[in-house]
Amino acid sequence: MSHERFGLDTALLVVDVQNDFCPGGALAVAGGDAIIPVINAWIPRFATVLASRDWHPPDSVHFTSWPPHCVAGTVGAQFRAGLDTGRFLLILDKGTGDVDDGYSAFEATSEDLESWLRSRGIEQLYVCGLATDYCVLRTVLDALRLGFAVTVIRDGIAAVEVNPGDGQRALEAMAAAGALVTGDSRTCCNICNRGQSYLL
Ligand SMILES: [Zn+2]
Repeated sequence: MSHERFGLDTALLVVDVQNDFCPGGALAVAGGDAIIPVINAWIPRFATVLASRDWHPPDSVHFTSWPPHCVAGTVGAQFRAGLDTGRFLLILDKGTGDVDDGYSAFEATSEDLESWLRSRGIEQLYVCGLATDYCVLRTVLDALRLGFAVTVIRDGIAAVEVNPGDGQRALEAMAAAGALVTGDSRTCCNICNRGQSYLL
């Protein structure tokens, strides 16, 4: 992969790489832990690295749609072992209310993500994490709607796939809304090819 570093206007957002979304967890995503080395390889390239986490109350309307997962303070809600959390500058807790799905990192209640980014002059986000078809999707669509440039790290995401093909459809929806999608981490990083999207 390229070792170019990104400028100060660009941040990495790592979405919900938590135990309950990884194999063995309450709402496991196939390959949810396979993305961790990919994410760890991208982290050093960014001056600003943020992470979101599902941080649900024990009783939530959210659990009428999903098995209980990522209950605040539990092991299931912890970041997956092996994820390089040492450079997380900000952790965004979302889904913290009992009537709150909190799919998007922009719905975090621990911090106003939009204001936080704007106050630091961050205009571009690279997004990776779990799961492609829910929290990554909603985060990316919100970021684009708010005017941020977004690149999705193609091999740094994995999908729940409640319906087969949901992951691919989510990628197509993000690209259609204006997101760029990288190839794998060994191919072009977009720095030299802004405006091109990959693999779609
Ligand atoms: Zn959740």
